[in-house]
Amino acid sequence: MPKPFDGTRTDSIAQGAARGAARLAALALERPRRLLLALLLLGVPLAAALAAGWAAGQAETDLHAHAHAQLALYDANLRAELERHAAVPLALAQDSEVTALLGDPTPERIDRMNRKLEGIGKALGASALYIMDTSGLTLTASNWNGSSSFVGQNFAYRPYFRMAIERGEGHHFALGTTSFIPGYYTAHRVVAENRTLGAVVLKVGFDRLERAWVPSPEKLLVTDRDGMVFITNVEDWRYHALPRRLPIALPVVPEGTSEGLDVLPWAFGGAADRIAIAENGVERRYLLASVAVPGGDWTLHSLTSREPVSGRAQVAGLLAAAAMALAAVAAYALALRRAAFAERLAVQEEARAELERRVAEATAELRERENELTQAAKLAALGQMSAGIAHEINQPLAAMRSFADNAVVLLERGRTESVRDNLGEIAGLTDRMAAITRQLKGFARRASGRLGPVSANGAVGQALSLLEARLRRDDVTVETDLPAHTVWVTGEDVRLQQVLVNLIGNAADAVRGAPVRRLRITLTTADDVALLSVADSGTGIRDADLPRMFVPFFTTKEAGEGLGLGLSISHGIVEDFGGSLTAANGRSGLLGGAVFTMRLKVAEQKTMEQPS
Ligand code: ADP
Repeated sequence: MPKPFDGTRTDSIAQGAARGAARLAALALERPRRLLLALLLLGVPLAAALAAGWAAGQAETDLHAHAHAQLALYDANLRAELERHAAVPLALAQDSEVTALLGDPTPERIDRMNRKLEGIGKALGASALYIMDTSGLTLTASNWNGSSSFVGQNFAYRPYFRMAIERGEGHHFALGTTSFIPGYYTAHRVVAENRTLGAVVLKVGFDRLERAWVPSPEKLLVTDRDGMVFITNVEDWRYHALPRRLPIALPVVPEGTSEGLDVLPWAFGGAADRIAIAENGVERRYLLASVAVPGGDWTLHSLTSREPVSGRAQVAGLLAAAAMALAAVAAYALALRRAAFAERLAVQEEARAELERRVAEATAELRERENELTQAAKLAALGQMSAGIAHEINQPLAAMRSFADNAVVLLERGRTESVRDNLGEIAGLTDRMAAITRQLKGFARRASGRLGPVSANGAVGQALSLLEARLRRDDVTVETDLPAHTVWVTGEDVRLQQVLVNLIGNAADAVRGAPVRRLRITLTTADDVALLSVADSGTGIRDADLPRMFVPFFTTKEAGEGLGLGLSISHGIVEDFGGSLTAANGRSGLLGGAVFTMRLKVAEQKTMEQPS
């Protein structure tokens, strides 16, 4: 017997399927894992490098633009500082008091002029303001009262003086010989009545400018014609010389007379304009930008930190790496979800396949059992029938025996007439036995499986003669109500007989204990349908059993008496014929017991006269 499908079995199916699916899932997970690893190991550094490179390029461009914009500002700043008071010497050169002084430098005039120049110089924030005669001797100066007073000094050798005497105006940058403070000198010639009397000179220092530049983020320096740094916001670099070979072409090429000066501590590397400077042991990189300051032989340089370039590159690299890692993890999570989904599907699929397999197994097992039972039913029927046949044949055999014995005695007595009668009886009995075996042969003939016109009247007659002995034994009266003509129905004779034998046999069983034991077989036709029914005077069928009548193995009989297959097989046969078999209780009918009715299709070969 197949085991019933219970919960534990289904669970074990699911577990087996889950194990299989886990294997599949492990395989399915392998790919996303590799992808994640590849993305993390290759994608992340690559994305970081690309992003960093791109960001560095952008930052470099920005840095150049920014550095040159700043440089232009500082340049303007420097020029403004230089020209701030350029008009003052010119104005003083026109001053009558100055011409008077130069015409006749009396001590009073000198003293007055000293104080005047001191007042103006202070107001301007100038380094020095002084007046020289044509020989270059300083007659009066704003710093007349200080320790490094210019008064009495001769500056004839100074280029600005010579330029002023010769051309009317002179400019020059120089370190003060007495003060050693660098300054920008602006000189104007003093002329009276077409005679050169001397020059007024203004010296402006750069401390104010340098102080203003100190907070600038850039390192700023101004170099002179010789390449010497004289203005800068980096205290240590003042009076240092530019490196002899700079990586960029300077707008003003130094003339190289800065020997003896310390060289700026710059190192060069990478692109031409990149300069590395060690600051507190740390190397910092700068972008060098230079511009010529017009009017002088000076060059203004700025060093802008390259930190933003590397900073931006780093940030972009980090962001790209993070984005890539995030994308990798997201892709991994997605792949995991897909794998989980695939796993679920695989589990379901495997469980379904397993279930299908087991159902197929169980069905095959069931079919096997059914075959066995059918076989058993056949054997049981065979047993019943052989008992009946033995009974049928035994009687004529015994009669034949006694007729034969009698014939021998009669022959001895010479009663030939009586012997003939006895032999006639024996012949009659053999005819009867031949009839029985003929019918059995017909029944035992294998069903052909081919449908054709079958005589319904004939089938009833055959079935009744097969059961005749039994009906007689059980004292069952059979009434038939058949039309005089043959009713041809679609079917197959052996199987139609089989159905009738079954229905009549059941009816005989049903009336066995009843006071009246009657059966009625009726055949009617209407249009192209023939109705063939077997009714009995038994107790009928319980209402509750009616729907189960044709279910295989439904039986109310004692074990060994019935298998409950007869009606289900009969039902199948009639359906094969294209008809139907129904059961009902005939309480309102003639006999009161059960009524089984076959609806059969009337065959092509319509009603024919029954042969007499
Ligand atoms: P079996 O005769 O082996 O039990 P069947 O399939 O032929 O198997 O019949 C099934 C059951 O139907 C019987 O056990 C009986 O209870 C019921 N049945 C069949 N024919 C009749 C009838 N004429 N009257 C009452 N009950 C019947």
